[in-house]
Amino acid sequence: MSTPVVTVLGTGTMGAGMVRSLRRAGLAVRTWNRDPAKARALADTGAEAFDSPAEAADGAFVVLTMLLDADAVLEVIRQASPAAGTVWLQTSTVGLEGADRTVTAAREGGLVLVDCPVLGTKEPAEKGALVLLASGPEEVRPRLAPVLDALGSKTLWLGEAGAGSRLKMVANAWLFTVTAGVAQSVALARGLGLDPRDFLAAVQGGPLDTPYAHLKAGLMLDGEYPVSFALTGAAKDARLIRAALRTAEVDDRLTAAVLETMEAATDRLPDPGAVDMAAVVVGLTPARR
Ligand code: NAP
Repeated sequence: MSTPVVTVLGTGTMGAGMVRSLRRAGLAVRTWNRDPAKARALADTGAEAFDSPAEAADGAFVVLTMLLDADAVLEVIRQASPAAGTVWLQTSTVGLEGADRTVTAAREGGLVLVDCPVLGTKEPAEKGALVLLASGPEEVRPRLAPVLDALGSKTLWLGEAGAGSRLKMVANAWLFTVTAGVAQSVALARGLGLDPRDFLAAVQGGPLDTPYAHLKAGLMLDGEYPVSFALTGAAKDARLIRAALRTAEVDDRLTAAVLETMEAATDRLPDPGAVDMAAVVVGLTPARR
């Protein structure tokens, strides 16, 4: 059997890491990115970069999209126009309404949609250690297995396309609440004249501890925010969660507060797209520390 060709449309932070993982697993990878330099920068992996989504998708067995939002995903898949019957592995975070739009686009284009947002950030993407929230037809699962095994440490199959995007909202609601919670405790410790490290030491190893708190608090303490998940992307996702909460008729006040804090940080930072979401702490403090 010949090696299946996987086309990756979007080689930003996450897409680039996924390309590396797919190549490490020996899969043939064709890439496209709006800024072509980012796709070309992956030449060392053996992935082949193309000038247009359509060229990249030509002859692909699976077309994977990893783009900012639903508008970008729908525009790029329209330009790619993969052959009918191609599996479309949609991994971007697009929210409930965005997922509905991908279902419609797949039906119109004759594509087999697997709605598959991911948990994990830059490093898990690079290491093939994402958690894949897959939803789509039963019959494609064996064919997709080598691709999903290359990308993730775990795949949850959740039912019909769209269920993955719903669970992604649930998981990201938790992620953002934890991140904002860490930011609040770091800022409060500082405001009370304490060393935030003492807060981390107090919870360390106990039931309230999570490695994530140490990871994100470390960035907050350094005041340096190399991007794993850009603040602007996180704010985009917080808006999707707020919409999901409203759809589910669950009060959105908690996520609204997190989003407001992200937006305050965005207003205070010169380039909020170039900092990690740990910079949400800036939204809680009068001046950047
Ligand atoms: P990123 O580094 O900002 O990459 C975004 C990608 O989307 C880039 O390839 C960008 O192209 C492309 N793009 C944006 N607007 C476009 C448009 N109008 N047309 C065509 N391409 C467009 O973001 P990321 O962190 O990789 O995130 C990608 C997706 O994964 C998002 O949906 C995000 O919510 C989700 N996600 C992120 C993480 C994380 O930790 N980073 C984790 C899980 C899920 P250019 O390079 O040309 O700008």
